Amino acid sequence: MQPQTGGHRLILATRNAGKITELRAILEAADLDVELVGADAYPEVPDVKETGVTFAENALLKAHALAQATGHPAVADDSGLCVDVLGGAPGIFSARWAGKHGDDRANLTLLLAQLADIPDDHRAAHFACAAALALPDGTQRVVEGRLEGTLRRTPTGTGGFGYDPVLQPLGETRTCAELTPAEKNAISHRGKAFRALVPVVGELVG
Ligand code: IMP
Repeated sequence: MQPQTGGHRLILATRNAGKITELRAILEAADLDVELVGADAYPEVPDVKETGVTFAENALLKAHALAQATGHPAVADDSGLCVDVLGGAPGIFSARWAGKHGDDRANLTLLLAQLADIPDDHRAAHFACAAALALPDGTQRVVEGRLEGTLRRTPTGTGGFGYDPVLQPLGETRTCAELTPAEKNAISHRGKAFRALVPVVGELVG
């Protein structure tokens, strides 16, 4: 396995240590000669406004902004919950569905209220994640991952974040909030998107 200190620098557009650890482990397992650092390594670079209307557009906006500002290849992801009966909403609005950005409890409560009359066999939903790689010269690639499931009526479990307590993955009897982090990473939309990015990073960076 290559050390992650001497290779080509790759910036991940997040300040979330969990995401950095997850992508670093995936790159290490693939034996890529890449040094992954988070956006915190560039505090002078401002966060980008997510003005796109799809996960892919938002991921690309963030990746391009960071690649341009740092002169290094950059990866960004954007994700959310898509509910079939709501036509894919909350989608890109997942983090601020109830109005205030990042109020997980309010978002969950509002969603459950909106779905109160929807019977169990029409409660299909999935988490979606787009992961984008951008190079300073403007080259770009996007990959996507999904975690399909159904929505419970009552939040269950204490792990995870966001809508994890109500999404029960297909084939599971537990919600995402009842899975261990390793179990969730193995099947998650972000894990799938990050793993799909490995050959792209290998081709364009490592
Ligand atoms: P982000 O783009 O990864 O920050 O995710 C945006 C929002 O989507 C989060 O604030 C959550 O509401 C929701 N979300 C994304 N991924 C997950 C997940 O794995 N579990 C639960 N909620 C998620």
